[in-house]
Amino acid sequence: MLFDAGKSFSETAGRMALLGKEIREVDGIVLSHAHGDHYQGIGPIARRLAIPVYVRKEVYSACRWKLGPLNVRHFEGEFRIKELAITPIETSHDVTSCGFVVGRFGMFTDTGCVTSQMKEAIRELDAVLLESNYDEEMLMNGPYPRLLKERILSARGHLSNDDASDFIRRHGSHLSMVFLAHLSGQNNTAEKVREAFESLNADRPYVVCSRSRQTGTYLLNGRGSGLEI
Ligand SMILES: [Zn+2]
Ligand SMILES: [Zn+2]
Repeated sequence: MLFDAGKSFSETAGRMALLGKEIREVDGIVLSHAHGDHYQGIGPIARRLAIPVYVRKEVYSACRWKLGPLNVRHFEGEFRIKELAITPIETSHDVTSCGFVVGRFGMFTDTGCVTSQMKEAIRELDAVLLESNYDEEMLMNGPYPRLLKERILSARGHLSNDDASDFIRRHGSHLSMVFLAHLSGQNNTAEKVREAFESLNADRPYVVCSRSRQTGTYLLNGRGSGLEI
């Protein structure tokens, strides 16, 4: 499965190939919300592979004309794709959005605050992919217009490095791996993410996911969680 697809077919296939994965083995794509950085690659990838796209009705109506013709399957609550059970988790964004839990792995991006469902869900997880979107100082001193800065900072925007690190400190001390992702290209650096995370989570294993290249292949199965393979 792919969870969101913001890159083109060839970029996605290329990055997967570098991880030893074949894009033709993807059985479907799940879409979290109607923002281009999450759905731009979906139309071309899903059509070329002839695979279904799983999306909430409201999200689909917000971007269907951009997605083009697709084999769409709607979900609202928990749903299954073959043997995989997928649970949507409420996030807080300026459009209808959600994160996902699959087994003991959770993916939470595009949320202006940590929601109660995220706090609840993380208790059962071994590993999490969490947004660490911006460094507050870089955002405030950066070139974005005031309104956009306010949107990002708001409870329906994105999680800052400090918010993400604090969430893990308070609720994730049992995790065996944390993937810090969805870094802003303008208002963040991997170094800032590392500084914020390590200041609050000294011994927690983590990886900062790059915007421009694949992250790695990890085994996520309970005790072995977080093992890079
Ligand atoms: Zn996004
Ligand atoms: Zn978004």
